[in-house]
Amino acid sequence: MMLRSIQFLGSCSGFFFHRLKLHGNHHGLSLISISSKPSSRTPLLTTSRTHRCFHQFRASSVRSESNPDATSSSSSSSPAFRSAGATRKINFCQSCGGPTKHEIPDGEERERAICTLCGKIAYENPKMVVGCLIEHDNSILLCKRKIHPSYGLWTLPAGYMEIGESATEGAIRETWEEAGAKVKIISPFVQLDIPLIGQTYIIFLAKLMTPHFSPGPESSECRLFALDDIPYESLSFSSMLVTLKLYIEDIKVGKPRFHYGIINKRPGTSPSEIHAYTLDYHMRS
Ligand SMILES: [Zn+2]
Repeated sequence: MMLRSIQFLGSCSGFFFHRLKLHGNHHGLSLISISSKPSSRTPLLTTSRTHRCFHQFRASSVRSESNPDATSSSSSSSPAFRSAGATRKINFCQSCGGPTKHEIPDGEERERAICTLCGKIAYENPKMVVGCLIEHDNSILLCKRKIHPSYGLWTLPAGYMEIGESATEGAIRETWEEAGAKVKIISPFVQLDIPLIGQTYIIFLAKLMTPHFSPGPESSECRLFALDDIPYESLSFSSMLVTLKLYIEDIKVGKPRFHYGIINKRPGTSPSEIHAYTLDYHMRS
């Protein structure tokens, strides 16, 4: 299913503690540690060693290279960091239907919805969105959305991953459902985290198995756009804008690389302002 909704988390009642550690692995990142304490709300970034194959950018303090219009902002004031402890208001227990209370469970750091009858804690985790960037004859396949949000705007074929499938299976399925195209995955291209809305995008490079495509029920049109004709002003989501810009930047100087980044929206901007983002912690292979 194509993305049917964009969920925006409520404002955070308090930022308590956030720490991210990526330990050494063969992909290159040795250690990145981000921590923030309630007293300062200032995330600290410590990179003990960055692998030679990765170039890391603190785009939060400089203009994002893929979005020259982005204003400078510090991570400490970014919506993502402020919202890191946010929960959606879940008013009823999914197990027994009982009313919930919103408290920080013993031994935890975040407010959760806790059932007042059976005591079950509702844990919420980010959703995975998977999709394909398909280049064919020096053009990229885009779908025009026939559903809200972003009705009538262009997107790469992508949608929520289902339980029981892998990211690649989900990307292939979504491409079939939305673009009627059978594709073969070539490689992962980008992972984009959007903490503000609790989503992570993984977009794969893929190629058409046959030169056929046609709009599925959630698309009004599917079309190949030449690299110089991408409709940047009519794209559906910031994630698609970032993905396409990174891809075209790569192609212009050589071949596609793998990218990771965090999309943060500028404070006070509307979800429909897809250009109002910063790409933070941008790393590339
Ligand atoms: Zn319950």
